[in-house]
Amino acid sequence: MTSIQHNLQETRQRIAAIAERCGRSPQEITLLAVSKTKPASAVAEAADAGQIAFGENYVQEGVEKIQALSERSPLEWHFIGPLQSNKSRQVAEHFAWCHTVDRIRIASRLSEQRPAHLPPLNVLIQINISDEHSKSGIMLEELPALAQAVAALPNLRLRGLMAIPAPENDYQRQLTVAKKMADALATLKQKHPFVDTLSLGMSDDMEAAITAGSTMVRIGTAIFGARSYAATTHNKN
Ligand SMILES: *Cc1c(COP(=O)(O)O)cnc(C)c1O
Repeated sequence: MTSIQHNLQETRQRIAAIAERCGRSPQEITLLAVSKTKPASAVAEAADAGQIAFGENYVQEGVEKIQALSERSPLEWHFIGPLQSNKSRQVAEHFAWCHTVDRIRIASRLSEQRPAHLPPLNVLIQINISDEHSKSGIMLEELPALAQAVAALPNLRLRGLMAIPAPENDYQRQLTVAKKMADALATLKQKHPFVDTLSLGMSDDMEAAITAGSTMVRIGTAIFGARSYAATTHNKN
């Protein structure tokens, strides 16, 4: 077993232990392995250990890995980085999910650019839940209008919400923010009964996120090890 495979197993066990502690089934929680800055060979190691869903932040780097690993079905690729309009086509053509929809303009482009032979692109609306310095995500007040517009687009499937809360060490405060997101999803579900996904929780706030109701945790470092940004292609994005 490689160290990536060992880390993956430990991460899965941690998710299962947290889920059991709060009375949820581990099957309700998808582990998204965040492979940004890591080579295709690292993704292949994780895939060999049964990992299916991978998250990428940088369009160009992600597409290169998707193409390098295209023979390895059935990997499921999630775009989780900030999305600029001029990169939307590549996301629409290569990814199965986009977690960072935060304006109607980008949603319309993704829908128009989604190839007809592919199923609809699964999208999450990104909420700026606690980080006043972040430019990504919408305020909760803006959610009903954006959700309605996204749900009307033919080649997108609105699946739920995503957030990247401001870093916070205190568990109770993490939990308060995570519960706000879970409440927002519950409210959204009243209008859009098919939404089922809350993408919330990273290495440091996974426990609070799962306790509050996250259905998808995004874990990078704990699986693939620390990132070295200098040697990567992300600045080409
Ligand atoms: C990098 C990243 C992650 C993973 O972070 P780690 O601290 O490496 O686990 C999760 N979500 C998003 C949006 C990211 O950009």
